[in-house]
Amino acid sequence: MNTNFDSNEPNIDIHIDNCEDFTMEMPAPVREIINTIESHGFEAFAVGGCVRDSLLERAPDDWDITTSALPEQVKNMFPRTIDTGIQHGTVTVMMKNTGYEITTYRIDGEYEDGRHPNSVEFSSKLVDDLKRRDFTINAMAYNDNAHLVDEFDGIGDLNHHLIRCVGDARERFTEDALRMMRAIRFSAQLGFTIEEQTYDAILALAPAISKVSMERVMIELGKTLLSDHPDYVIQFVETGLFKDKLPVVHRILSDAHHKIVLEMLKLSKKDMILRLTALLHYASPEDARKTLRDLKLDNHTVDTVTRLVSCAKLTIHETEPDVREALHVYGRDFFPYLLDHHEAATIAKERVTGILLPSQKKHLAALRRLSTEILERGDCFTIKDLDITGHDLMEYGLKGPEIGKTLDSLLHMVIENPALNEKGALIALIENL
Ligand code: ATP
Ligand code: MG
Repeated sequence: MNTNFDSNEPNIDIHIDNCEDFTMEMPAPVREIINTIESHGFEAFAVGGCVRDSLLERAPDDWDITTSALPEQVKNMFPRTIDTGIQHGTVTVMMKNTGYEITTYRIDGEYEDGRHPNSVEFSSKLVDDLKRRDFTINAMAYNDNAHLVDEFDGIGDLNHHLIRCVGDARERFTEDALRMMRAIRFSAQLGFTIEEQTYDAILALAPAISKVSMERVMIELGKTLLSDHPDYVIQFVETGLFKDKLPVVHRILSDAHHKIVLEMLKLSKKDMILRLTALLHYASPEDARKTLRDLKLDNHTVDTVTRLVSCAKLTIHETEPDVREALHVYGRDFFPYLLDHHEAATIAKERVTGILLPSQKKHLAALRRLSTEILERGDCFTIKDLDITGHDLMEYGLKGPEIGKTLDSLLHMVIENPALNEKGALIALIENL
């Protein structure tokens, strides 16, 4: 099999006829960890996401290892370890500067709160550990001796592009409601369909999402929005998962505008600010802020997205002074977001309604060209860029609030006419203010 990790697009045609013959590329430290554990008489396998991603020829984010050795035994095999989650069986082994999580085969106990098992039990059988995993495509293990261990036909589901629970979907979602969001997130990342019984179980159990913290909801929503298929976010609404959890998003994606929102998401760069703005484009600024706060996002994200949502109309003329003024008002970091967002909104409306908006597109292109030229030239559009400081004005005899006001007036003259940004010329101007 060709294991070329250049692209993160899933390989859409996996043919593994014989799991025993399959060889997977693993980073040298992972191989070394597995060999070390085996040399002590235990089993060890790469497991979960890294096996799935390797099969799909995508670069795995991290490499998890599962073993029959107990955490204390793992610790004795390696010189540098960290007790990451020792009570759950996880030890991090440090290889040079990279940490690898090694978890003992585990059977999860009863789930009482719909999120976490009350207890965990260690096991000596790999299949026990695979059984507790969420989806068939995430429940495969690999090492060079056993080759691929695929007890739940993860390969079949990879080939058919299906997200399917390991075991009974209703039981698995009742144990841990987060898995319902994970199903949708993986379907967006891989472009896969959620298998029927798994999907029906989400429909039936959606209200249990109330047990999941907003931080975890945001992680899954964020991964969905930043995936290759951000429009799959609609599944959170179609399944009812967001009905009470994120009512503003639920309402936006249930009404007539939802097609434009989904198109905007696809057209927006893979940037959290832009994709959240697309999602909340039709929300009022108040609703947008509340939703972002509910999702426990940081202040910068909350403020930037709310501001973008508030700027529904652009009233900037296509002249250099107007664009410099806009850069002053909006800031050099915010202005490109504004153009990107309006561009995505315009093209999305064109695609969904079939009505062309050439003048809007031309206007945005002109603003982009002008702002690029202004930034490349290094024109002054902030007080900091003026060739005169508050200190200079104090020496000139100005005091207190006069200083700020004067700098402001000078800046606006320079925005109109950049040639004035020279100390002598600015001092001459003060005389006439
Ligand atoms: P990614 O790292 O790209 O988000 P992943 O599949 O590696 O995807 P992780 O959250 O890192 O996902 O989890 C690693 C593995 O642990 C999964 O592949 C799965 O086997 C198992 N797992 C993670 N979360 C759950 C869960 N809530 N329920 C059951 N198994 C889970
Ligand atoms: Mg992972």
